Amino acid sequence: MMWNNLAKLIRAATVLVLAFFQTAASAQDPNPMLAENAEERLSEHIYMIRGFPNVLIIVGTKATLVVDTGLGPTNGEIVARTAARLGGSSKLWLTTTHFHPEHAAGEGGFPNGTVLIRAKVQQEELEQDNDATITRFRMRREQDAALLKGVTYRKPDIVFESSYNMDLGGVHAKLLWAGRAHTKGDVEIFIEEDKALISGDVIQNRYGPVFATSGSGTPREWLRTLDVLSQLSPRLIIPDHSAPGNAHLIIEAQEFLKFLDSRAHKLKSMGIDKAEAAKTINGELRAKYPDWELHDVSNAVGLIYTE
Ligand SMILES: [Zn+2]
Repeated sequence: MMWNNLAKLIRAATVLVLAFFQTAASAQDPNPMLAENAEERLSEHIYMIRGFPNVLIIVGTKATLVVDTGLGPTNGEIVARTAARLGGSSKLWLTTTHFHPEHAAGEGGFPNGTVLIRAKVQQEELEQDNDATITRFRMRREQDAALLKGVTYRKPDIVFESSYNMDLGGVHAKLLWAGRAHTKGDVEIFIEEDKALISGDVIQNRYGPVFATSGSGTPREWLRTLDVLSQLSPRLIIPDHSAPGNAHLIIEAQEFLKFLDSRAHKLKSMGIDKAEAAKTINGELRAKYPDWELHDVSNAVGLIYTE
């Protein structure tokens, strides 16, 4: 009897401790649920659901294009309902800026007949990842695990090499694979009539580049991708984890990456070990960009040290 009570007490304590850690975790991570009926109109043809991530809906007279899905099918359904409300029953296209789960794992929430289109490099990267990223997300917190329950990826209807042009009716979208940056397969979407670039994780606003444990390019590769994108001369840049901004965001991203690249090469040539170099550069970036949301650049420094 006493052991029984003790076991109950231990179980209760465990639940409390777990609850504490889950609250602590969710305080840092953004809310993964997208809001319904909360889209903002950014330009003549572009609407945005601001959230994790920002989801874009481009509405033409013949078709609607959705960029990114939200985390899991429940969010995908919210996005699909919003797209149907804005675009009516016209043809629905869906593309993803990269394969990470908050961008791609909500595809199952879209209706039958949705045309899924993706760059070949991105599709290969998704398949090679073999659900490793989704498994990591499931372990982050219970809410993410619930949203990602049973998620599988279907094959895209269309796969393109480096670009794909779309006529949505009165508005044209160019889907681009411009090279490696945040992932191997980042896709950016240029909306010609609105001179707007949907830049995914490749160009952000006061938000440092995220170099993933695997898949991200070196700062120099990322800069080459930015060179291609700057030739589009966008007036509006729409990132997926920060606020929209103007063309200056490209210049800021270039300056950031050049600084990171030159400092890491310099410290490497001085024989400083890579952990120490990363620590130094992280500190310098914090001083240089006090009002930015920054991410640890250790992975970028690691790439430069093995170049
Ligand atoms: Zn990502």
